[in-house]
Amino acid sequence: MFEIRQVVTPATLDEAYGALMANRNNRILGGVAFLKMGHKLINQGISLEKLGLDYIRQQDGWIDIGATCTYGQLSTSPLIQAYSGGVIVQALQPIVGVQLRNRVQVGASVFSRYGFSDFLPVLLALGAEVTLHQAGRMPLEAFLAQPLSRDILITVHLPDRPQTSACQSLRYTASDLPVVNCAVARDEASGTWRLAIGARPGRALLVPAASTLLAGKQPDSTAIEQVSAAIAQMTFGSNARASADYREAMAKVLAQRAIEEVASC
Ligand SMILES: Cc1cc2nc3c(=O)[nH]c(=O)nc-3n(C[C@H](O)[C@H](O)[C@H](O)COP(=O)(O)OP(=O)(O)OC[C@H]3O[C@@H](n4cnc5c(N)ncnc54)[C@H](O)[C@@H]3O)c2cc1C
Repeated sequence: MFEIRQVVTPATLDEAYGALMANRNNRILGGVAFLKMGHKLINQGISLEKLGLDYIRQQDGWIDIGATCTYGQLSTSPLIQAYSGGVIVQALQPIVGVQLRNRVQVGASVFSRYGFSDFLPVLLALGAEVTLHQAGRMPLEAFLAQPLSRDILITVHLPDRPQTSACQSLRYTASDLPVVNCAVARDEASGTWRLAIGARPGRALLVPAASTLLAGKQPDSTAIEQVSAAIAQMTFGSNARASADYREAMAKVLAQRAIEEVASC
């Protein structure tokens, strides 16, 4: 059973962090869609609703997304719809349904680093950064490489520059969790590519070799084959949803499709 003994609504981030650290059974509350599927007894649920973290704003060369923004807010924001051809809206669209997407929050989803995330690959490919209350600001890939700690994710930052991007996911049925997914982005000024593979089923990772192999605007078939070879070097796992071999094979197909989509733009 899932139970929260008390809910508090701190007025500052310092207060929220103090409450989080006061007891090991205290938890930050996002949209509580994932938490309520567990069997936790939460001593104090810490709601961030009074902290004004539901912004999506353009400033200083970045688009900043506050932690309490929901996927629904992202999907209906003109700024996010226009950003890199709407790739974020496209990546989130297969997640269950409108009701769930109107509830789940950005901060909870990124902080929790779910292996099945459809959000993390696209954020990695786009070169997103995150700001945490204690650990400060860092590239998303650095955050994902760190051990889990007790902290509060405050903002996700998207670089506000032209990027052409594409995302792909494989699901057995609509609204199921992804078997494997992938996102690709090409920076239009530098021609630099970034490719991320997720749901391996471990958490999403960049394929660093792809940046060198795909350099420029129009990668040829040899470059795409070399990217497939680089994907084969990643670790894939087996679970009830798929075997490691199947995931690896499908990751190569999804990556090729996403690269070709970006190259055709
Ligand atoms: C039935 C179901 C199906 C799903 N399918 C998919 C899918 O196909 N693809 C996909 O990508 N995702 C999927 N998800 C995950 C979903 O998109 C969210 O990522 C997930 O529900 C977490 O968001 P939440 O707001 O519910 O978080 P909560 O349940 O409120 O919190 C989750 C965790 O994050 C912590 N937390 C919350 N906010 C913060 C913060 N700001 N800083 C630090 N820690 C915080 C909480 O303490 C908790 O440990 C699914 C979820 C559900 C319930």
